[in-house]
Amino acid sequence: QDVINRIAAGEVIQRPANALKELMENSLDAKSTNIVITVKNGGLKLLQIQDNGTGIRKDDFEIVCERFTTSKLQEFEDLHKVCTYGFRGEALASISHVAHLTITSKTNKDVCAYQAEYSDGKLKAPPKPLAGNQGTIIAVEDLFYNMNVRRHALRSPAEEYQKISDVVSKYAVHNANVGFTLKKHGCNCDVKTPINSSHKENIRMIYGNSIAQHLVDMNLSNDTLQFKCKGYITSVNYSVKKFQFLLFINNRLVDSQSLRKCIDAVYQTYLPKNGHPFIYLSLDLNPNNVDVNVHPTKHEVHFLNENQIVEIITNTLEGKLLESSSS
Ligand code: ADP
Ligand code: MG
Repeated sequence: QDVINRIAAGEVIQRPANALKELMENSLDAKSTNIVITVKNGGLKLLQIQDNGTGIRKDDFEIVCERFTTSKLQEFEDLHKVCTYGFRGEALASISHVAHLTITSKTNKDVCAYQAEYSDGKLKAPPKPLAGNQGTIIAVEDLFYNMNVRRHALRSPAEEYQKISDVVSKYAVHNANVGFTLKKHGCNCDVKTPINSSHKENIRMIYGNSIAQHLVDMNLSNDTLQFKCKGYITSVNYSVKKFQFLLFINNRLVDSQSLRKCIDAVYQTYLPKNGHPFIYLSLDLNPNNVDVNVHPTKHEVHFLNENQIVEIITNTLEGKLLESSSS
């Protein structure tokens, strides 16, 4: 049974960066305003996330790592309206099957924090009290220690760290009201954004001044198709080597091949060969029109009226680029 659980868990948690994405989403669901991430050896030795959110009650320590335990979904019907990130109750359970997991947490109702270690979905011992601030610290150590093949299939720690940094950067830009810090253990911060910043300021801090200086606003909405789009795109006077596409739909980091391709195609008529844009778009769609990710590793998203919405966005974008090229 443990082996089966481990295989299932390995499908949910494929590499350090996607474990971290799940953990960041939990911190955001818990209404944190400050999130600090510490990484050792590309996240394989240690992946730690500390937040100042609502915390986990002592009584809930017993169940948070059981599969399909979630505090976020009341009825199956809710699945279409979920506004929290988590709803499957799979992340912590999965992590506990493929790593050494330690949770330390304090709610505002408790006088002290509690700490517990988990393995294979179960508490190893009753939570023990200790001093601490409100919020949660999740430490994931020795990821895939019990899955040799998976561990060897991963890239180098440097590449895994790159993927971590990429996903943290995107969440940090999008969640401008939340402060994010990412650091390698014992080193200076690689990503740092303050609480209550702006999207543009965060782009500047994370992706650099030159991108930030070439940003054009991208705001549009359409009542008939029930969507709103906000964000920034780089003007035609600027390009990056690799297409940077930060796409959030209803606050979830997703990918849309159709949108990605159409946007890059528009830029190709303006940018030098091998030049690409930086794009940050936050799309709000009627939740009933979006196919929610039913699997944690599926980022490709589809939505109702996709072709029309993509067309309207690309047309607006083209207009903006024309404006920016003539000014
Ligand atoms: P889900 O997010 O789908 O509910 P998870 O396995 O990711 O499932 O988390 C299980 C439960 O643990 C959550 O529903 C939540 O109650 C609790 N939890 C996890 N992380 C945090 C956190 N950082 N702060 C507060 N509660 C948390
Ligand atoms: Mg979750």
